[in-house]
Amino acid sequence: MARLVEIFSSIQGEAELVGVRQIFVRFFGCNMRCEWCDSPETLTAPRGPLLPARLEERPGSGRFTRLDNPVDVAGVLGGVRRLNDVPHHSVSLTGGEPLLHVEFLERLIPAIQGEGLPIYLETNGLLPDHLSRVVDRLDWVAMDLKPPSCTGQPWPNWLELHRRFITIARDSERRPRLFFKLIVSADADRQEMRSAFDLVAETAPDCSLTLQPVTPFGRVRSGPSMEAMLGWHELAATRLRDVRIVPQLHKLMNVL
Ligand code: SF4
Repeated sequence: MARLVEIFSSIQGEAELVGVRQIFVRFFGCNMRCEWCDSPETLTAPRGPLLPARLEERPGSGRFTRLDNPVDVAGVLGGVRRLNDVPHHSVSLTGGEPLLHVEFLERLIPAIQGEGLPIYLETNGLLPDHLSRVVDRLDWVAMDLKPPSCTGQPWPNWLELHRRFITIARDSERRPRLFFKLIVSADADRQEMRSAFDLVAETAPDCSLTLQPVTPFGRVRSGPSMEAMLGWHELAATRLRDVRIVPQLHKLMNVL
């Protein structure tokens, strides 16, 4: 059983697969507290009985029914099947941090793949031991880079955890397609950004890196200027061959 927030159909708004249509399974809970987190409903919940998750009634309808928490594998699979009556590219496991539910994922992922749907994992890249338990079933890994100056949260061993995470993804038998996203704040620190770019250049130089200006949310009132973003692009592109600047598409299009 796992605690969910929602299951819905939308387009992927970030990084390398931007624009593809996916079924999103959003898990509750995260090991981080990024200042600008745009999924605060995954971080804390009111005291008392567990709130139900919500399940979109028809793909793209924006209307939801409730799904009692915690949800079992059959419950998630039923939701995915219901939405997959129009073609989808893949199922995005997102959150929160979906790898916090790794025991559940070990059973859920094969069940979803049995429906013919590939698996796309969105992750903050800070739980390498959890990744090692499911990596050989994944098709895509969309990994965030989390320099503390961009999250507003001190995390002393972030680089070391990222390094282990990337190594596990790269050394796995299945070798899921790995790519990176870095949400850039107005306070991004040059030394931390350089370290993040160096890490990707050293461990996964053939993978793409998408730099995404933070979308103001919560305590964060403004993002970096375009001039600043171009400066970060330049610093990254001297080390990596595929560096892009892309804002969150689903926010621009005002969809889920
Ligand atoms: S890692 Fe993602 S879900 Fe977790 S706090 Fe940061 S932005 Fe929110």
